[in-house]
Amino acid sequence: MKIVRHSNADVDRVRAVRAAIGQDEELFVDANGAYSRKQALSQAQKFAEFNVSWFEEPVSSDDLEGLRFIRERAPFEMEIAAGEYGYGLNYFKRMLASHAVDVLQADATRCAGFTGFQQVATLCQADHLPLSTHCAPMLHLHLGCATPALRHAEYFHDHVRIERMFFDGVPEPNDGALKPDLSRAGMGLELKYSDIEKFRR
Ligand SMILES: [Mg+2]
Repeated sequence: MKIVRHSNADVDRVRAVRAAIGQDEELFVDANGAYSRKQALSQAQKFAEFNVSWFEEPVSSDDLEGLRFIRERAPFEMEIAAGEYGYGLNYFKRMLASHAVDVLQADATRCAGFTGFQQVATLCQADHLPLSTHCAPMLHLHLGCATPALRHAEYFHDHVRIERMFFDGVPEPNDGALKPDLSRAGMGLELKYSDIEKFRR
């Protein structure tokens, strides 16, 4: 869930979501880099009461010292993640070298496609750190299957909605897992030309 409106409101919203989903599901929060360091750390302690296990971009991803500051002080059960804005390999290398994250994120639409993503994945593997894909779940499905360091794929509903609008062959998740349809060619997707025609300018 996205957070960072008002710190008290965030805690109330996290409490409400935990109450709604029960105790068995993992709860992830994403601050999109909008907290200050001390504010993020204070929030991490409060979120821990509701078993939040993932705190994404608690501070700006450009603040590698800040990410490390929080990663080293946050509850052990809470992983700190960042990396979705990375384009070049050096960006990811610096993030890993700074010990800024527990899980690195990468987005193949930004980090030089499949080739760039695989290079980031190799960095993670060499650093014994897991990698999580950012958005565009169908784009990362086959790629993720070929990534030993993969932790999980972000299943962003806005993106899924668009993928279903524009493509045939989008698989449904089953028990939290996506599997490629091996009966389909390539990535399994086929552009629905007739459905997208109305968006042509
Ligand atoms: Mg994010």
